[in-house]
Amino acid sequence: MECADNPRNKCAACYRQFNRMEHLVDHMRTLFHSVHEPTCGVCKKHCRSFESLREHLIGPLPKQECRNAFNIRGCKFCLAILDSPYALRVHQDRCQLSGVNHGISAYMANLGLRDSLTIDNGYSRGPQVVALACKTVGGGSDRSLDLCARVCIIDEKENIIFHTYVKPPIPVTNYRYETTGIRPEHLRDAMPLRQVQRKVQDFLCNGEPTWKIRSPKGGKARILVGHGLDHDLDKMQVEYPPIMIRDTAKYPPLMKTSKLSNSLKYLTQAYLGYDIQNGIQDPYEDCVATMRLYVRMRRQVHRRQDYPLASDPQNRNNFASWRQNELERMSPEEMLAISRSDYYCWCLDSA
Ligand SMILES: [Zn+2]
Ligand SMILES: [Zn+2]
Ligand SMILES: [Zn+2]
Ligand SMILES: [Zn+2]
Repeated sequence: MECADNPRNKCAACYRQFNRMEHLVDHMRTLFHSVHEPTCGVCKKHCRSFESLREHLIGPLPKQECRNAFNIRGCKFCLAILDSPYALRVHQDRCQLSGVNHGISAYMANLGLRDSLTIDNGYSRGPQVVALACKTVGGGSDRSLDLCARVCIIDEKENIIFHTYVKPPIPVTNYRYETTGIRPEHLRDAMPLRQVQRKVQDFLCNGEPTWKIRSPKGGKARILVGHGLDHDLDKMQVEYPPIMIRDTAKYPPLMKTSKLSNSLKYLTQAYLGYDIQNGIQDPYEDCVATMRLYVRMRRQVHRRQDYPLASDPQNRNNFASWRQNELERMSPEEMLAISRSDYYCWCLDSA
């Protein structure tokens, strides 16, 4: 700190100041700064997540200049800085969304109207995106084993594609009625788990063998959006390649810290501006919230680069291939220019 402001040793992305150039080089090797990080609209500082950008803008120790601009023309949902207070009003009216009427979806699930998933054999255009959510009931003698009891899948336009109760393979010992709204009669003649598993699996792969799914582009398999999908897929015994999964609980820009997820309830409140999961929870509501978060993240405008990921073979060791002394001679901006993201930014789905 005593080695005051030496712009030579200041990270061009997060503005951290280092006493020695070699420390800045180490920082750049491990931080994976990139054009895909959430960035302050005023000072252009890169943040690891929207949570840390929010902190940068509103506190507890905000940067004064940035806070002032944010107070006047910053969107409290997506954290963008608009050109004027008027532009902000117009923007924020669209940025804040309202909840969905899930009475209709519950009605259809009761009628069993939406349980025939169809496979379109790849005739549809482009990669298709669907969101999935489950609700679980309890099984086992201590009633804590999660059993999938309700599944919903929607398309990008929030239309219900699949919505059904599921009959678990073992007895239910806790219906968790206060949050699931599920009663024994809902599950008695419901679709057996095995059948649900097969339908969902086939629907996601869409005629593509699982081993062939290597990229979100070009194939017939669908991009799957959700929150905590590991858990949902595990309960349904569905296997799906990570490369096709967009999980709002695991996407670094939406996480609380590098290890901790935010809840879907929090994300929906903070980034979309409405409340979910009050009282009885409908998986349709979760599907809509995750899909909206996904679409918003995909819409981010980031500079296009030929090989945007640190893991792209063309970039492998993009730092290691340079000698330490070569890196130390670069300017912080030059180092940032060769740095690439260590996560797949969802804006890349829009190309
Ligand atoms: Zn940095
Ligand atoms: Zn991006
Ligand atoms: Zn700033
Ligand atoms: Zn906004």
